[in-house]
Amino acid sequence: MTIYLLRLGELTLKGGNRREFEEVLKRNLAARLRGTRAKINTSAGRFYVSCDEDKENTVENILDHLLGISGWAKTRKTGKTIDEVFHACIEEAKSLARNGIRTFKIEARRTDKSFPLDSYGIRRDAGEAVLNTVPELKVDVQNPQAVINVEIRERAYIYSMSKKGQRGLPVGTAGRGLLLLSGGIDSPVAGYMMAGRGMHVDAVYFHAYPYTSDEARQKVVDLAGIVGLYSMGVRLYVIGFTKLQVRIKERAPQAWTTVLLRMAMMECAERLAKMKKIKCLITGESLSQVASQTVENISCTQSRITLPVLRPLIGMDKDEIIKTALRIGTYQTSILPYEDCCVLFSPPHPIIRGDVSEANELYEKLELDELIQEAIHEAEVEKCGFPENR
Ligand code: ATP
Ligand code: MG
Repeated sequence: MTIYLLRLGELTLKGGNRREFEEVLKRNLAARLRGTRAKINTSAGRFYVSCDEDKENTVENILDHLLGISGWAKTRKTGKTIDEVFHACIEEAKSLARNGIRTFKIEARRTDKSFPLDSYGIRRDAGEAVLNTVPELKVDVQNPQAVINVEIRERAYIYSMSKKGQRGLPVGTAGRGLLLLSGGIDSPVAGYMMAGRGMHVDAVYFHAYPYTSDEARQKVVDLAGIVGLYSMGVRLYVIGFTKLQVRIKERAPQAWTTVLLRMAMMECAERLAKMKKIKCLITGESLSQVASQTVENISCTQSRITLPVLRPLIGMDKDEIIKTALRIGTYQTSILPYEDCCVLFSPPHPIIRGDVSEANELYEKLELDELIQEAIHEAEVEKCGFPENR
């Protein structure tokens, strides 16, 4: 039997709501663990997960994707002799040293008073045993890089919080948002970030077959699957946008096509969101990253809708966004070469600072209403990254 100890993240700051947040975290974790026969125990604000050894990889993968915990540790469970406890401390210390840790201290707690050392004695003697065996490590009581914890209960438990968690808040504590998900680098990161504020994320992808290929569609499904691993599943709506794109190309001045297409996407996404009782939209926009993302053009793209548009990447630079994409595992899929529809239709000299009233005049001439209605009616739904039964 292996035991994991979880450290709760920001939700510990929630005061009176803490219990509710803990309940959601527990529900999410239980849904992910379904079929592994792993068990969750909670006591004194702590979460423990116990599982059979052959399920360790599965469980660790689940903990790595769980929003709402700041860290987790695999505990070493031993018998209650001094030799066994010290041996486990040394093994833990070696593993810390291998991960670049240089300073440590030992914390000890003893509920079983029959153990021959008291907690002060454990700290002192186990610390010395580590110092004698692991030359890379030094004690730093004030500000150690790692703490090795020893708990003597019905058995002895030794752990250090060696793995960082995803942090954030448990998904399901902040309502539902509709992510405009393209095959690019940015929007999957945006979805992940809002999931990390507790939001359930559904997604909409505007597909322009045959201008964009089935591979491009599959790429978005795959990205939704990865975001879904964090957000407890993404319901992805795939909406055919070819007729709208063709209409825009026929009726609008070339320089305006990108802004008008974005306006149409926003309007369509909002209608879908309202049908599904979703309360906000989410995009991967980052200020000035591309021509359509100036303040003026953003004003145009949101001028026809009333739902709030959350743009978690708005102040991030591309390097930071890529770093997050690499860490959460979307980057490799995002950089696959399949073009998205906007690239194929984008004009050589797009409008950089669109005027809102001019944009709306042009937009009304497109008469998109029925086309949008029809596109939503024909939307296909895919469930991506939901908890599975094992
Ligand atoms: P991304 O990397 O997310 O594609 P981007 O830097 O390419 O972003 P744009 O192409 O200007 O930026 O798109 C801005 C935002 O509009 C995207 O982050 C996404 O939220 C949304 N978007 C763009 N194209 C689509 C599409 N085909 N389907 C759904 N949403 C889209
Ligand atoms: Mg894009």
